[in-house]
Amino acid sequence: MKKIAILGSTGSIGTQTLDIVRNNARELEVVALAAGSNVELMEAQIREFHPQVAVMWSEEAAAQLRIRVADCPVRVLQGMEGLLEIAVLPQAEVLVTAIVGMIGIRPTIAAIRAGKDIALANKETLVCAGHIIMPLARECGVSILPVDSEHSAIFQSLNGEPAGRISRILLTASGGPFRGRTREQLAGVQVEDALKHPNWAMGRKITIDSSTLVNKGLEVMEAKWLFDVEPEQIQVVVHPQSIIHSMVEYIDGAVIAQLGVPDMKLPIQYALFYPDRKVMRDNRVDFFKLGSVTFEEPEMETFYGLKLAYQALKQGGSMPTVYNAANEKAVALFLERKIGYLQIPELIQRCMEHHELTENPNVEEILAAEQSVYDYIKELI
Ligand code: NDP
Repeated sequence: MKKIAILGSTGSIGTQTLDIVRNNARELEVVALAAGSNVELMEAQIREFHPQVAVMWSEEAAAQLRIRVADCPVRVLQGMEGLLEIAVLPQAEVLVTAIVGMIGIRPTIAAIRAGKDIALANKETLVCAGHIIMPLARECGVSILPVDSEHSAIFQSLNGEPAGRISRILLTASGGPFRGRTREQLAGVQVEDALKHPNWAMGRKITIDSSTLVNKGLEVMEAKWLFDVEPEQIQVVVHPQSIIHSMVEYIDGAVIAQLGVPDMKLPIQYALFYPDRKVMRDNRVDFFKLGSVTFEEPEMETFYGLKLAYQALKQGGSMPTVYNAANEKAVALFLERKIGYLQIPELIQRCMEHHELTENPNVEEILAAEQSVYDYIKELI
């Protein structure tokens, strides 16, 4: 029985992880769950999966949950203290980081130090702290198992190949709902338009990020850390059908890809059972129905959030944190309808231009860079 803890259990990745637990109840057991404020769903999850510990971010949500589950043998904790306690819970072997945003950094580091394998969905953690997390994972002998579909595809395509044989990573992108539009045509985009992804059903923040291609930018940075490649070795390939989840080109020119229907359950399950594969029904690619697959170069001038990601990655140090924090804030403001769609990359660019780079930042410096971005955006807006 593999024992897992999930940060972000009420979200898109979290609930799909629990679907996999439900389908593999003899092999997976949930020992801890954490969420932000969705008390109702957390109560249902506690009653179904019987975790020993549950965490809500806010004090108020934790207090409400304690009353609702007073009849269950579960300890209810709150805030960062609660997340850190779950991260190091002795009973858990794997921590699924399905929380959204930089809040995942400290719990992930704590879990690695406590020897837990990480099933990593929370890409923002690697973007900002990859230089801390990857060496620490090697030192502590723990695995970082990618959940993101593209990185899972790369991980699967690399299986068994010795290091140093990669020529390029071909990171596929659907292109999002606005593929083919000009910058002028993007000016009037509303929240509802940006929340309609053509192929994937995901949380709100990542859906907006997919539409701006900032998600792809974050994935480029994530790939750099996971697979130890240079930015020049990562090529984004727009592939609107989202059937090829990514590819690896080797030094001899061979290209190995992983294909599948666009369903996050496969990469989540692969990470939870790695190196084993388990049966998963109803997720087969129908090649005859599909007919053809197509490829395009990304429009880096229109969707310049992607271009800024390469720039931030090359500059390194605290710049990826600035890129990510500016985007997190800008997306939140866009969702609250306080800024327009095109202001998202604009704010990222202005924050990057304003920032004084710190080389090799530690966690405190990363969090300070995040805060300085939030303060600067407050001044700007
Ligand atoms: P969602 O917004 O759907 O879910 C986020 C989860 O995190 C919810 O359970 C939410 O709780 C919880 N949460 C938010 N803030 C806090 C907090 N302060 N403390 C504790 N829990 C918190 O996001 P997704 O599932 O879409 O994404 C999660 C991560 O996975 C992101 O980093 C994303 O980039 C990555 N990812 C997602 C994919 C997808 O298909 N969705 C694909 C690949 C990567 P509550 O519900 O109570 O607010």
